[in-house]
Order: sequence, then structure tokens, then C-alpha cells
Amino acid sequence: MDNRKPTHINPMFRIITYFKPYILHLCLILLCYLAIAGLNLAWPYLNGTVLTDKILGRDSGYLTEWGLGSDQFILGLGLVVLAMLGTKLLSLLFQMVQGILSASIVPNVVAQLKSAVFQSMGRLSLSFFHSSQTGGLMTRVLSDADRVTSFFTDILPRLITNLFTFAATLIIMFSLNVKLAALSLCMLPLLLFISIKLFPALFHMFGSRHRAERNLNIQINDNITGARVVRAFGQEQAEISRFDQYNQSMRTAEMNIVKYDSLFHALYTFAQEASSLLVWSFGAYFILCASSSGMKLGLLITFAGYVTQLKGPLDFLSQAIRFWSDSLNSAERIFEIIDAVPDVVEKKEASPFIIQNGTIELRHVTFGYDPSIPVLHDINLSAQGGQMLGIVGRSGAGKSTLVSLISRLYDPQQGEILIDGTNIADMRFCDLRRNIAMVSQETYIFMGTVAENIAYACPEASRAQIIRAAKLASAHDFICALPDGYDTIIGSAGHALSGGERQRLSIARAILADPKILILDEATASVDTETEKAIQKSLEYLVKNRTTLSIAHRLSTLRNADMLVVIDGGRVIETGTHEELKEKKGTYYKLLELQTKALAMKGLE
Ligand code: ADP
Repeated sequence: MDNRKPTHINPMFRIITYFKPYILHLCLILLCYLAIAGLNLAWPYLNGTVLTDKILGRDSGYLTEWGLGSDQFILGLGLVVLAMLGTKLLSLLFQMVQGILSASIVPNVVAQLKSAVFQSMGRLSLSFFHSSQTGGLMTRVLSDADRVTSFFTDILPRLITNLFTFAATLIIMFSLNVKLAALSLCMLPLLLFISIKLFPALFHMFGSRHRAERNLNIQINDNITGARVVRAFGQEQAEISRFDQYNQSMRTAEMNIVKYDSLFHALYTFAQEASSLLVWSFGAYFILCASSSGMKLGLLITFAGYVTQLKGPLDFLSQAIRFWSDSLNSAERIFEIIDAVPDVVEKKEASPFIIQNGTIELRHVTFGYDPSIPVLHDINLSAQGGQMLGIVGRSGAGKSTLVSLISRLYDPQQGEILIDGTNIADMRFCDLRRNIAMVSQETYIFMGTVAENIAYACPEASRAQIIRAAKLASAHDFICALPDGYDTIIGSAGHALSGGERQRLSIARAILADPKILILDEATASVDTETEKAIQKSLEYLVKNRTTLSIAHRLSTLRNADMLVVIDGGRVIETGTHEELKEKKGTYYKLLELQTKALAMKGLE
């Protein structure tokens, strides 16, 4: 597992650095939100005090203050309505500007975050991708980038605005009527209590639902990608009951949330409504019985409007913790990948190196995926340029691990690997990997045309070179039979290819790359005997004049190897040519006997 750079900075603050070029935009967004909040604050005043008390209450003094005649109430009414309309229109305008500004930032920052993650994935060693926990991380990164960005363009400005609205509303309320303002706040402690006591539990339930949903998605994904295996082993019923189990826990989590959420909202709304009711009843009492209080209907309407306006910020603030912790989680996941330090790193001082012969030497190599559990012990091997080295051993002996060390997918914990006498740890990745090609049973076809797939390692190859490689790999005929020949789209969303066809494409890819060193890791393991024979021919061409390390389940294919290395339990236990090892009557001989018998039973040899 790759290490992580120790960092003590809160990931959310690190995300801010991505917004540096957009600080002005962010300030403008905040101003828009504040302007909207200010306009919202004006509305209850226009509605209650001005419209109800001054215009409907026929306050002629107020009209003269506006420079109108003392009886021009209809004109006054028109002006108030216009002002009210104006506040709504302005508010919509600010909303639009804010939306446009956000839209101009979000895609840029999201794209930057995603490309930072993707670049980091390219740098990381294979061990990072083998960690299942990280596998889960990858799939979520895309939505994480969206979530964390919208926190800054949407949630944060709204949070600031809501705090502003809350404070401004309180100030206005207290300046209008201290008693009513105090009354409307008497429910505030209850609201805080509900938020602090009940909300964490609700938050916890959201977490449970998220986990249940993830399990369900993994189960669905497994069943889609592994549909053949599920059917082949008749596991449909078992899978259905496993799905039911996850589905059930998802349902339970969902129901708990609904129940608890309803309770939370019922209590919350009750506390809010109770404060509205208190204001209305005491306000009405002041109007009816205490004329000395100076309370008027319009003022009460204005006041009630402000009490209602307090709800928005309170609701938002009660959820702000959730937004914050959701975004923090997302930011953490993003930086977990961005900060991961690859196990295998290129030396800064590595100078260009041209591999001439392709001589390979392993000296006292010891390696374990977990350094405390070695998979390979003290391996010593050498192959001259152009030789073919066959690697033989039982499944799990460490053969694939051995060859993956040669292209530096992992670094050995002890010992060194030399190519043409130079330690591969001192070479640049590009020099090393340009000269090593691997054909394994895991063929990967990228989304693209057949030609692009063959030219994967040499995008500059001409069509003639691609066709030549395909012909040598016995792939030309089946490619020509595809709907668009070399331009047929293949890969996850394209034309499906058989195992043998995919294998021949990967051989063509290796032929075109023209490497000095070739690694064949069970290259024909996943194809039938007929196809294997066809592929074998292409392989014979491919191995010519290259140093080849070949792992094959069929020992007969390694008969012509210059040297065979038998590995058992991560150690080299026998080396020699096919004839020598047969004579020796050791492990190789036993494996050969077993295989000959098994094949004879099938009538294949
Ligand atoms: P072979 O190719 O001979 O079948 P491998 O080299 O694939 O054997 O595996 C050797 C040992 O290393 C096995 O015990 C296997 O379980 C373990 N192993 C292989 N790949 C990994 C990995 N990515 N992480 C941890 N252990 C692994």
C-alpha cells in the first residue's frame, strides 16, 4: 500500500486553494446572496408597516413625507406595489447573476479536482489499486468533487447570508418592538435543544443508509459484471437472497430516517409555529387592550413576517453541520488519492538509457506484497539477450510476481534487478517500459477503434505498420471481418471480441511496440486449444530476437526455452533445459508427468 504524505491542514482549507483564480467570482456570489437577503428583509416592512399601516391606514402625513398630496392614497398604493414588485424582480435578477457566476466556477474547479485525482492515479503504483478500500474510493471521487465544490459556491455563501439574515432580522425585530422580539425568541432554546440533541442521531442514520446503499450497489455491480459466473455456478438464488438481505437493511435504514426525520421536523416546526402564534396572540392583545403600546395591525404583520423569515436561517443552520461534514468527508477522500505517495518512484537523477541486448539478471531478490510476508525469497536468475526463459511452477508459486518485478510494477525489498548490467531502479520509467511488453491472460481492450488499440503504446504508428503487426499476430483476418474493419469501435461500449481475438490484439500491440524484452504471462491460458494453436504461431514470431520470460500452463509450449526455472513457494528449486530437468526427475518432471496424463485423459496429446 502506498504511503500517504502526512498533512495536518484541514482538507476543506486545501480545497480553497483551487478557488484562488475565482476569488472575485466568489465575492460577487456572496454579494448577490447578501443583496437577495437584504431585499427579503425589506418585504415584510413594505407589506406590513407601509402597505397596511400607512396606505390602508390612510396615514396622510406619510404621503406628504413622500412628496405626494395628502389624499393620493391610490398613487401611494401603486408606488408601494411597484416597490414590492421591484424587490422581487431585483431578487430574481441577483439570483440569476449568482447562478451564472456559480456555473462559471463549478465546472472549472470540478474539472481541476478530477484531473488532479486522475494524474495522481497515473503516478501511483499497482499496490494502491489492489487495496479494496481504495477501489471504493475511486468510484466516489467523481461525485465527491461535485459535492465539495458546491459547498464553496453554494453552501458557504448561503451560510454567511443566513447568518447575516438572522442577525439583521433580530436587530430589526428588537428595534420594532422589544417585547414581541423577546417573545419570538423564547422558543429559540427549544430549537437549539432539538438541533443539538436530535440532529446527531439523524446524521448517524444518514451514514447507515449510505453504507447500506453502497453494499447494495456493490452487489448489483458484482452481479452485472459476474453474471456469467453466477449462472455458471447456479448461484442465482443465493445472490437473490443476499440482495434481499442488503435491500432489507437499506429499507430499514430508510424507514428509520423517515421516522426520525418526521419527528425532528414535527418538533422543529412546532417550536417555530409556537413562536409565530405567541407573537400573533400577544400582538393582538397589545392592539386590543394596550393601546398605549403603540402596536398597529401593520406593525404586527411586519413583525410576523420577520418571525417567519427567521425560519429560513434556522432551518439552514440546523443542517449546516451535515453539509460541512459531508463535504469534509468528500475532501478527505479526494486528498487521500491526491496525497498518496507511490511505492515505486523514478529516481530524480535517472539518465536516459538505451537497452541494447536485453540481458536480465536478478540478484538475491526478495519481495512480498506485505513486506513482512515474502512471496519471493532470494531469487537469483539470469537470461542472456534474445534467450527464452520458461518459468514453471504450481499456481501461487510466485511466477507472475517475479515477472511484474522486472517491469518495476513493484520494487523488491531486497536484492536488485539488472537489465544490460544496469539496476532498473536507476532507469527512467519511460526507458524501461518502452522496452518491455507484456502479454498476459488479462487482456485489456480500451474504448476506441481496433487500430487505436493495437497502436496503444505507439500512437504515432502508421496504418501500414498496424496492419503488418495484426497480420503477424494472425489478427488481420478477423479484423477485416468486423463491421468497420480496423475502424470498428471496441471496448466496454463497443463491438464485443472473443477471448482469442482479444489475445491476438494484445499480441499485435506487443509486436508493434517492438520491445527488447517480452513477458508472456499465461498468454494462452484463457483460450481454447484451436485458438491456442493459432496464437502459438503468432507468439513464435513475437519471441524472435527478444529476451523472453514465459509463464505457461502448458509445459509443452516451453519445451524450446533456452532455460527453464522451476519456482516453488517463492524459491527457485530447479533450473536447466527441458531435457536436463526431465533427466533430473525432480519437480519439473513430476509436473510434466501430471500434465501429460491429464492431457492424455482428455485425448489432447
Ligand atoms: P503464480 O503466478 O505463480 O500463480 P502469483 O505470483 O500470482 O503466483 O502469486 C504468488 C503469491 O502472492 C500468492 O500467494 C498470491 O496470493 C500472492 N499475491 C499475488 N498478487 C497479490 C497482490 N496483489 N497482493 C497481495 N498478494 C498477492
